[in-house]
Amino acid sequence: AAYQPAPGRYDSMTYNRCGASGLKLPAVSLGTWHNFGDHNPYEQMKQLLFTAFDNGITHFDIANNYGPEPGRAEKNVGRIVREYFADHRDELIISTKAGYEMWAGPYGDKGSRKYLLASLDQSLKRLGLDYVDIFYHHRPDPETPLEETMGALAQAVSSGKALYVGLSNYDGPTMEKAAAILNELHVPFVINQNKYNIIDRTVERNGLKEAASRVGKGLITFCPLAQGLLTNRYLDGVPADSRIATDGRFLKSNALTPERLQQIRDLNAIALDRGQTLAEMSLAWLLHDGKVTSVLIGASKPQQILDNIGALKNTTFSHDELERIDEIAAR
Ligand code: NDP
Repeated sequence: AAYQPAPGRYDSMTYNRCGASGLKLPAVSLGTWHNFGDHNPYEQMKQLLFTAFDNGITHFDIANNYGPEPGRAEKNVGRIVREYFADHRDELIISTKAGYEMWAGPYGDKGSRKYLLASLDQSLKRLGLDYVDIFYHHRPDPETPLEETMGALAQAVSSGKALYVGLSNYDGPTMEKAAAILNELHVPFVINQNKYNIIDRTVERNGLKEAASRVGKGLITFCPLAQGLLTNRYLDGVPADSRIATDGRFLKSNALTPERLQQIRDLNAIALDRGQTLAEMSLAWLLHDGKVTSVLIGASKPQQILDNIGALKNTTFSHDELERIDEIAAR
């Protein structure tokens, strides 16, 4: 059956400008690192994308290596977009990335021109699309000159295969050097993608958050719920349908130390005082100071997407709440 997107899909979502660029992103975006692999039912993947789009989530984030197997998330999302979103391609921001190991040998990993441009071509084939909206270098590669990697991103844009470029997992100083090169090449570098959540403050320490807002670049934050730890998922054990129980590649049960669980419970108490779920508060916290363009959530069920959008109802925090959250996070 054909899919008819909800007519009111743009009524309640907030769209934030990506730094100083002309591109706006929904305050909540959907990632496909998990739940879009070989073993996930096609129907479930469809429902995740439909629910997202019906609620104003115009941005789907992918990478060359998302699966399993690597490449599968691009194949699955591409198929759904072609089958159901063909009339809405111009309402979507689809991103992909290259930077982690994708194929054997010296040209399937890191940051060379050879790897990035071949990988983008492969991504477009798997997606079955003519272009992506954002093409990212997935992680910095200290062995390759920045000029070479940035030159490859420039060519991705000039060849029409990407509209914008982004950098992922860069620190502040390296991002600024890369930005200077991209500026000189007149490349629309609009966004950084980094891990950021209440219990992982790396971007506050490595200069990325400060530099991104100072030089007018967007910031989209991945693992905003710490893969599900910053929700009510694990408050009473490990549910059979949770990421720890069903996947266990990147989030393992050893993440649930007594100290971590206490932290989660204390954060949950603050959330409840605010009239929010822990997931809502965790996302609202990322958006409260206006320096994060979009929170890049994952979801195994459509209902989680709906729950997470609820965060946008209250992104204001008192000084006291912020201090208590910082104190718990620092433990
Ligand atoms: P999150 O921190 O949002 O974790 C998502 C998981 O948390 C869900 O799959 C679900 O797990 C659980 N969850 C989500 N919402 C709720 C809720 N309301 N209540 C209870 N549980 C909930 O993000 P991810 O770790 O999935 O990462 C998001 C995206 O970020 C990725 O898809 C990818 O696009 C990007 N990313 C980028 C990286 C990079 O290097 N650039 C690295 C990693 C991610 P479950 O139901 O299965 O328990």
